[in-house]
Amino acid sequence: MISIDKFSGETIGSVREATREDIARATAAARAAFTTWGETPAWKRSAILREAAERLGARRNELATLICREAGKAWKYSLVEVDRAKETFTFAAEEAKRIHGETVPMDASTTGEGRLGFYFRTPVGVVAAITPFNFPLNLVAHKLAPALAAGNTVVLKPAEETPLTAALMAEVLEEAGLPAGVLTLVQGEGPTVGEWLVTDPIPAKVSFTGSPPVGTRIMSIAGLKRVTLELGNNSGTIVEPDADVEKAVPRCVVSAFANSGQVCLSLQRLYLHEAIAEDFTRRFLEATTGLKVGNPLDPDCDVGPMISDEAADRAEAWMKEAVAEGARLLAGGRREGRLFWPAVLTDTRPDMKVMCREAFAPLVSIVVYRDFEEALRLLGDSPYGLQAGIYTQDIRKAFAAVKKVDVGGLMINDTSIYRADHMPYGGNRMSGIGREGVRFAVEEMTNLRMVCFNLGQG
Ligand code: NAD
Repeated sequence: MISIDKFSGETIGSVREATREDIARATAAARAAFTTWGETPAWKRSAILREAAERLGARRNELATLICREAGKAWKYSLVEVDRAKETFTFAAEEAKRIHGETVPMDASTTGEGRLGFYFRTPVGVVAAITPFNFPLNLVAHKLAPALAAGNTVVLKPAEETPLTAALMAEVLEEAGLPAGVLTLVQGEGPTVGEWLVTDPIPAKVSFTGSPPVGTRIMSIAGLKRVTLELGNNSGTIVEPDADVEKAVPRCVVSAFANSGQVCLSLQRLYLHEAIAEDFTRRFLEATTGLKVGNPLDPDCDVGPMISDEAADRAEAWMKEAVAEGARLLAGGRREGRLFWPAVLTDTRPDMKVMCREAFAPLVSIVVYRDFEEALRLLGDSPYGLQAGIYTQDIRKAFAAVKKVDVGGLMINDTSIYRADHMPYGGNRMSGIGREGVRFAVEEMTNLRMVCFNLGQG
């Protein structure tokens, strides 16, 4: 399989696609390595993770250049991704040292007198990890770092669009001292290599980040394995009249168009109160049309190419369909190969694809509202439930949203896009099952073992 530079189309490198036998060998190697890695003391696991974090930092430019070319992500955001991956590994190095349980007051039960109970966490064993293209380093880090911190071994299948970034991550871990077999990288297409891995009998857990249809498929074929699914969203943000527009406008622009909108938390539905809608929209359009679209290696670039021609085709088709159904295009929408100029729509309806499905493209729809309750209802009217944002200075409105909006994360005075790598992160309903964010991923990648001493020996 070759990997191309998504801007120039040049071949950057190639990897060998795994066969079914390779998958069986990889999981068997992971099982064998687990016998020692699972017994490796926490301080040693922690030291290797810390060393990996240091090495990621030392190779910052090299990694960012590869992300930039392989994923088409603008240089400044590629650098941010490397810094975040370093922090994810640092959090994991810390987390490795505090995986613990608690005592259970056994005598609270009429059957528990004379007994002493506690539980602790044990690694699940082999983790099968499958990752998407849009954060080819940090989303790989979000699988590997907590899995290794907890004492698991991993077989990783990264996205077929970004195999080289994952390979470089694996090289960094090897150089940081990770023993052979603890991590095995298998490359290839999802419906073949991905499914062989998910259905292999050895992994005890599947940790997947990607699209809802693939997540649903994985859930149906995984059998009796623990499954974590980090899926998509059609993220929304409300801007109330008391918002700091000066700050909110540039933040909303970045939230809609960073990485060409190919972020699971990308701002797709922007609800503006009528009192500020006109002023906000004018500033938003001005900032959007000022974005630099083009070669992601250019340090001034804001928006690089989309991941594939098919992705850009789909974005263009959805935009045109919305316009044909009555929406107005206020800016952008130009197309040149994989480049797609940030598009701003208005007069959209909730049933249009650009509104009710995940666009995963530089497309945002502006909806003007009158009543806050109505805006909350619209924000929550989605089959997805990953994150949402609300700009308001009114604490009552903020708490109304906190209570009502069914999402995994609600950002007050920010957009849906905010994420720090240690916070619990994940979605409800079609956005997934389970949580990541290092400590929370550790919880999902460990089993509780209960121990009960009968002190009375009766
Ligand atoms: P995708 O679902 O097409 O692919 C993700 C991974 O799954 C790839 O490695 C792919 O090869 C593999 N895959 C595909 N079919 C498979 C199958 N049948 N069995 C096993 N594996 C299979 O997603 P993508 O296009 O790479 O990424 C975009 C999607 O990822 C969007 O929906 C986005 O919202 C989501 N995403 C979610 C998060 C999150 O944390 N919630 C983060 C980033 C991306």
